Amino acid sequence: MHHAIAQNPDMIIPAPAHISVSEGKYTYTDQPEVKVTYTKKITGKEAYELTVTPKGVRIKASTDAGVFYARQSLAQMTKGGTVKEIPCCTVKDEPRFPYRGLHVDVSRHFRSVEFLKKQMDAMARFKMNRMHLHLTDAAGWRLEIQAYPRLTSFAAWRPQHTWKQWWQGQRAYSEEGAPEAYGGYYTREDIRELVRYAAERHIEIIPEIEMPSHSEEVLAAYPELGCSGEPYKDSDFCVGNEETFVFLETVLAEVMEMFPSEYIHIGGDEAGKQHWKTCPKCQQRMKDEGIEDVDGLQSYMIHRIEKFVNSKGRRIIGWDEILDGGLAPGATVMSWRGTEGGIQAMSQGHDVIMSPGRYCYLDHTQDAPFREPESIGGYLPLDSVYVYEPVEASMPQDKLHHLLGVQANLWSEYVVSDSHAEYMYWPRAIAIAETGWSQPEDRDIEDFRRRVLPALEQMRSEGYNTFDLADEYGERKLAQTGLEHAAKGKKVTYNKPIQKWYPAAGETTFTDGIIGGWTYSDHRWQGFLSDIDVTIDLEEVQTISYIGGTFMQLKGPGVFMPQKVDILVSEDGENFELIRTVWNDIPTDAEELLFKDFSTICKKKARYVRYHAYRSTMRGFLFLDEVVVN
Ligand SMILES: [Zn+2]
Repeated sequence: MHHAIAQNPDMIIPAPAHISVSEGKYTYTDQPEVKVTYTKKITGKEAYELTVTPKGVRIKASTDAGVFYARQSLAQMTKGGTVKEIPCCTVKDEPRFPYRGLHVDVSRHFRSVEFLKKQMDAMARFKMNRMHLHLTDAAGWRLEIQAYPRLTSFAAWRPQHTWKQWWQGQRAYSEEGAPEAYGGYYTREDIRELVRYAAERHIEIIPEIEMPSHSEEVLAAYPELGCSGEPYKDSDFCVGNEETFVFLETVLAEVMEMFPSEYIHIGGDEAGKQHWKTCPKCQQRMKDEGIEDVDGLQSYMIHRIEKFVNSKGRRIIGWDEILDGGLAPGATVMSWRGTEGGIQAMSQGHDVIMSPGRYCYLDHTQDAPFREPESIGGYLPLDSVYVYEPVEASMPQDKLHHLLGVQANLWSEYVVSDSHAEYMYWPRAIAIAETGWSQPEDRDIEDFRRRVLPALEQMRSEGYNTFDLADEYGERKLAQTGLEHAAKGKKVTYNKPIQKWYPAAGETTFTDGIIGGWTYSDHRWQGFLSDIDVTIDLEEVQTISYIGGTFMQLKGPGVFMPQKVDILVSEDGENFELIRTVWNDIPTDAEELLFKDFSTICKKKARYVRYHAYRSTMRGFLFLDEVVVN
């Protein structure tokens, strides 16, 4: 019997498997006295036992990693050696999952070696053990490759500082050393240093080299590797061209010289595959290999690359799109478009790392958008990260050992500076760390928040730019409480049908009293690529004094206010009287997330209310959460 939650007083994160606090305290003056014993009796590779008695501290483990994690727990208990008196206790601990990852996108914005080391220090503290480096993408190639110097003398640099300006501009690259050149790359020396630093912290760095897509920067430097053969035309490698494989295998061979990791991430996500359909070389390849479609061509490439990587004694990881056209035999899948891809791969006997966007994508804003720096959109507060449970009922129960763990991803399109990146990671990455380490019965959001606040305070005192959790604004207030009103629970007739993309709660959405939050993807907002036109039956004639609804605008993903809303009422459901047309006055080029009520006050006797929102001249989506009547 153990109760980590009850016994864990303000200290260990992630919550340990077993902890029992006993009578007495251990006090020390300089550093705590620690006795380490290696014993095979502790079987888990990362497991440890930590005992604090009035005389000192004893650590038992079978590996260096176990001892290391015991020391991390001790450091948390002593707040880095500043607290000179700690309660006597016994901690028996081991991780739930072997893979607890943090992803760093160094392509969109290059990150310094110092930044990566500093994040590794924090990862180690919270017992995370994989750093996934997204080294290559359209926005810049970040790794010295001796055989292909243009990757770093050209494709690592761009004229614009922010990704947004670059993306909205010509998407061109610069020569290294040019006055306008912004970017950077890691030299072999840098990588040697990073790998060494990581190993000391029991962290494995997993390099990612993108293929077949997200490769605009490569194809600008070496255009002969794209189907068109011209720079700035392709984002996918030409799979029909043998030179592509020479390039990828040469690059990967150098990557494997630099990184000793078990896994090499080969990307595989979001390939457009359009040019493959008309490229003579790709078509020839498909004919020669008996490949029926372009998904099969991607699968051919990944299979070949896997063989090469395996021949060097390593294994590949790819994003879940590598399932398309058939998975390579030993591939591990990183599931990001939800968890379905991961579950499918597990069912086929493949290892899986879960990183579903809905819980693990830290590029979404972590607090009320009006208080936060510009982000890619979405709203993912700490609590929503924490509630993620990787084991799902729909998973094959005999395949659960294939679920290797979880990873926090930070795509950095909108995350320009190192300190902004740090802000986005912490504390949300700590929630992922606990999800990866702790057993479900030891996880509790209230307890976690209580433990994480002092941990963040300590991080800030050490110079980390963390989010200020104590000052969190949180979800839209009405979204937290819901709303009582005269139309709640009343039947809604759709004069234009509900559309498939964002159905929310279907026909009850607009009268369920549930108000939408900061993001349209929270299943509370109903989305339309047409007008919204509904009629609500209040069941009896009554005096109505207010009719209204709230829309949101977020220009980036194409969410706009309606042009106008017609509000009509009727006593008999046949003859409607237009009582107000509410026009939009929000500019369509506003950059920020905006909400607007399209409402009217009135004094009308009616049983039926018709609410008709006209789609924006910008087209795009309309999102509405509730039609409120009083
Ligand atoms: Zn081609």
